[in-house]
Amino acid sequence: MQLIVSDKTQQASFVPPDRLLLGPGPAMVHERVYAAMSRPIIGHLDPAFLDLMDRVQGNLRRAFGTENAMTLPVSGTGSAGMQACFANLLEVGDEVVVGVNGVFGTRMADVAERLGARVRRVEAEWGEVIPVEALAEALAACDSPRLLAVVHAETSTGAWQPVQGLGQLAHDSGALLMVDAVTSLAGCPLEVDAWEIDACYSGTQKCLSCPPGLSPLTMSERAMQRVADRKSAVSSWYLDLGLIAGYFGSARVYHHTAPISMLYALDEALLLVHEEGLHARWDRHRSNHEALWAGLATLGLEPAASEGHRLWMLNSVLVPDGVDEAGLRRSLLEDNGIEIGPGLGPLAGRVWRIGLMGESSRAANVLRLLGALAQLLGGDAAKARRAAEQSGLQG
Ligand SMILES: *Cc1c(COP(=O)(O)O)cnc(C)c1O
Repeated sequence: MQLIVSDKTQQASFVPPDRLLLGPGPAMVHERVYAAMSRPIIGHLDPAFLDLMDRVQGNLRRAFGTENAMTLPVSGTGSAGMQACFANLLEVGDEVVVGVNGVFGTRMADVAERLGARVRRVEAEWGEVIPVEALAEALAACDSPRLLAVVHAETSTGAWQPVQGLGQLAHDSGALLMVDAVTSLAGCPLEVDAWEIDACYSGTQKCLSCPPGLSPLTMSERAMQRVADRKSAVSSWYLDLGLIAGYFGSARVYHHTAPISMLYALDEALLLVHEEGLHARWDRHRSNHEALWAGLATLGLEPAASEGHRLWMLNSVLVPDGVDEAGLRRSLLEDNGIEIGPGLGPLAGRVWRIGLMGESSRAANVLRLLGALAQLLGGDAAKARRAAEQSGLQG
């Protein structure tokens, strides 16, 4: 890469260090996505750009498993999608049931409370999932529950919340089902229509393997009816889906300038997802997760998330007694160029979080990480790699 040093400021263009991103996001980005981002921008009302937006919406519907008309990328990261769902679906005083077993469930409850909702938290230990019975009890204890919200893939703990059946449960009590799919979309099965999910949002920098900056979102007709029936205006002008829909719909009314380059990137990332095929992509995430654990087990490492509920794309690993959690991460980053994540909240200092999301979930990456970990922990690198290979790596 050419370094340009300005005569005037004596400052050089920023050149990032080489990194293998195996943390909780952002994930690695395919070179085709980088190439797409660097193409010249055109106007956001240019017919060529509007055609691209139509294609992005169609490919997002396929990824979400939905035919929802209201399916679009919200400008902003995954948290913007979360904020958009709550802001559009809730009014002051509404009763909401939120599953809280990690950072992102906690964030959901916080967002809903700030909007003036009455939030009933259903908690579970970090690393565990929320029992469906507990969610049912909380809904039954409400006068008139408006929303049931859960996190599909709790990136802060590695726990995989079962979602099938929750749509029916919510609807039977008159509530809508909202699902945070920031980490799950394109990494494990997610079927918005078949599972009766009314509001679902994601982020681009996890299993879609795009840079951060957009939040794919989808809303059922039932959810959009709720928005249409609101008594009060949506408190956020920027995230008002009724206004945003004016741009995505046939009228093409200006609301805010679409982040053009990010949309080029998301379009290319979605092409890569559908070229591979969703099922093949899920399978790659599963195989590499299993292979990673086959290798980690030879190093005596153990998972933090409860058995039967371990995510494929985010692996939380208990730090062995006597090992310096932060020191190992620092050596991985500084000496090996590999980023993994720390634990958060009650898991801080107790776990590492290894992300195998999208382009990061590749055979070579699993082997490279196992080799480096074995060296830092004083284990047998060849044995760890062999175990992973025998388990079956993909991609
Ligand atoms: C990353 C993440 C978010 C927040 O996304 P940002 O892009 O950081 O705003 C929300 N929920 C889950 C489950 C996540 O993993």
